[in-house]
Amino acid sequence: EAVGIAASGRTRDIIRKHGFTFKKSLGQNFLIDQNVLDRIIEAAGLDETRGALEIGPGIGALTERLAQAAGKVAAVEIDRRLIPILQDVLSPYENVSVVQADVLKTDLHELWEQKFAGCEKVSVVANLPYYVTTPIIMKLLEENLPVEHIVVMVQKEVAERMAASPGGKEYGSLSIAVQYYCEPQIVCKVPSGAFIPAPNVDSAVIKLTRRDKPPVEVRSAELFFKIVQTSFAQRRKTISNNLTALSGKERKAELADLLRGCGVEPERRAETLSLTEFASVTEALANAGM
Ligand code: SAM
Repeated sequence: EAVGIAASGRTRDIIRKHGFTFKKSLGQNFLIDQNVLDRIIEAAGLDETRGALEIGPGIGALTERLAQAAGKVAAVEIDRRLIPILQDVLSPYENVSVVQADVLKTDLHELWEQKFAGCEKVSVVANLPYYVTTPIIMKLLEENLPVEHIVVMVQKEVAERMAASPGGKEYGSLSIAVQYYCEPQIVCKVPSGAFIPAPNVDSAVIKLTRRDKPPVEVRSAELFFKIVQTSFAQRRKTISNNLTALSGKERKAELADLLRGCGVEPERRAETLSLTEFASVTEALANAGM
């Protein structure tokens, strides 16, 4: 059987053959652990009717596995030096298309139309560059792309923040944004030895399954997120102190009454509020014109 790209000997051979040097600034840590790749592929639930969008294919360790599991694969890589390497190592696979681009500047709706015609469902599967994890996740969520799952390797702490429940220090606006759109599930923790070069942090694979509709009803998602952001502006402050930024100091007493009307004591901190409570607060503040 052919040796996968992630086999560490093969990865080193490819890097040597092409004279490739890692760029830390681009978050280049390549996967060399077959078991981790197995877990990612299993979590992604792909088959020949499905497409996979990979962000940052590197030298193709995951891309190769996606090509074997999915109907179509599109991989967006920012680093021009990797394009000829990818073309070389992925030449056995006819269902892979490599695009040289910064994913944050890419029109993903257009890419979807161009690359995934005929696919019933498409998932995003990636070992993300850690310096841009949050902007990438937020782009995927906010642009309302028809994704089935987002299965991504991220820094362990970021995975914990995305999956966090109210009450702990991990819970914040990222948890709420992710959980508004998706159901999160941590697939596995990954030690730094699974990559070359080894990063300075532990990692985790998280699976986000896109919801058909948000778990709470709000008149405007934009307003909901504005209230969430404002509530967490200073984590140590109470919710009412943070929200006076919206109500104005002169309406502070009225704000406290509105919060109580939502079942939220004004002295609570944002990190204790559930999505449902944030949704009630959004409605109350909007009705009061705050
Ligand atoms: N998928 C490969 C693997 O698992 O071995 C490489 C993962 S590495 C953590 C992240 C990859 O993302 C690198 O190849 C890097 O060049 C690429 N990258 C970084 N910033 C990017 C961006 N804004 N758009 C697209 N790719 C990017």
